[in-house]
Amino acid sequence: MSSHAILSASSAYRWLACPPSALKNAEVEDKPSEFALQGTDAHSLCEYKLKHALGMEATDPTGNLEYYDQEMEECSDAYVGFVLEQKAEAEKTCKDPLVLVEQKLDFSRFVPGGFGTGDCLIIADGQLQVIDFKYGTGVQVEAENNPQMMCYALGAMLLYDGIYDIDSVKMTIFQPRKDHVSSAIISKDDLYSWAVDVLHPIAEIAAKGEGDFKAGDHCRFCKIKAACRKRAEYNLELAKYDFKPADELDEVEIAAILERADGFAAWLADLKDYALSQALKGQKYEGFKLVAGRSVRKYKDEAAVAQTVEQAGFDPWAKKLLGVTEMTKLLGKDRFKELLSDFIIKPEGKPTLVAASDKRKELNIASSDFEGEE
Ligand code: SF4
Repeated sequence: MSSHAILSASSAYRWLACPPSALKNAEVEDKPSEFALQGTDAHSLCEYKLKHALGMEATDPTGNLEYYDQEMEECSDAYVGFVLEQKAEAEKTCKDPLVLVEQKLDFSRFVPGGFGTGDCLIIADGQLQVIDFKYGTGVQVEAENNPQMMCYALGAMLLYDGIYDIDSVKMTIFQPRKDHVSSAIISKDDLYSWAVDVLHPIAEIAAKGEGDFKAGDHCRFCKIKAACRKRAEYNLELAKYDFKPADELDEVEIAAILERADGFAAWLADLKDYALSQALKGQKYEGFKLVAGRSVRKYKDEAAVAQTVEQAGFDPWAKKLLGVTEMTKLLGKDRFKELLSDFIIKPEGKPTLVAASDKRKELNIASSDFEGEE
């Protein structure tokens, strides 16, 4: 097992918060999810198109991409367009910026065995930019204080600081399927201070499997999250909440529970999935048994059903308009906008209670009540 798998940049967010999780995760076999495989295909396409646009030698991988579709085509085009814009921007202050595609970045001076691959680097006098393409649609990724980006920035700095006169690094996440671009600038001094004071000491501990387990948001990316004792204790702290002796919870108590509700629900779901997978391997749990789930009737031969119904004089087919997502996939984003933007409305979503830190604007209940009365 390579050290890379243990202290990778992409998992730094987790192992910086919970150092012993590094070795624990390295013991679990890597099974890439469908989303990860999709991301790998999208990255290959981006790499090819960017190299091609920059006049570098590259082989078109499209024929071998399992998940290639119109959306991937457009997202990779958008990525290339974005990088070229950034390059043009760098050319305003530096006449020969260097653009590197899929560059190996070594930050092992601070993290044992630490290296990763930067999707794109633009190196110019004054500033170095690290661009990371994210194809995911789940979590919106921010560049600010992002340890993965900071590790890449370090690797890039260690390579080029002596050659170019760099005093800051711009870290950019390009996440086209969420229409999201996030950039943050960190000075060379702040980056090195973080590497020396935070990254290096924790990486040393993590590499030895030492340090304290700590549960939190970062558990989402942990391979042992379902059966982790620390995560269970953290979530069960809720059950030990020191409630007041009153019949109903007050707003302070409800707020305290709400704060942990999503993490609690996610933990329970993970635990249930884990227990089922173990039960299917023969594990017994006191008071539980495996049964067949609820089943619904289905056709065993759809073509035969259609033929039989048609012969009986009926139309067995329902013709349905594609939903917005499917239609976008069919037409591609640009064509969709061109043909259908006048037909799209976005009704206000159902009110949802979220954390105060959420970026969405707060609903003004008082004024909407007032409007209702008018
Ligand atoms: S689930 Fe959370 S607490 Fe447990 S090892 Fe993983 S990151 Fe650490």
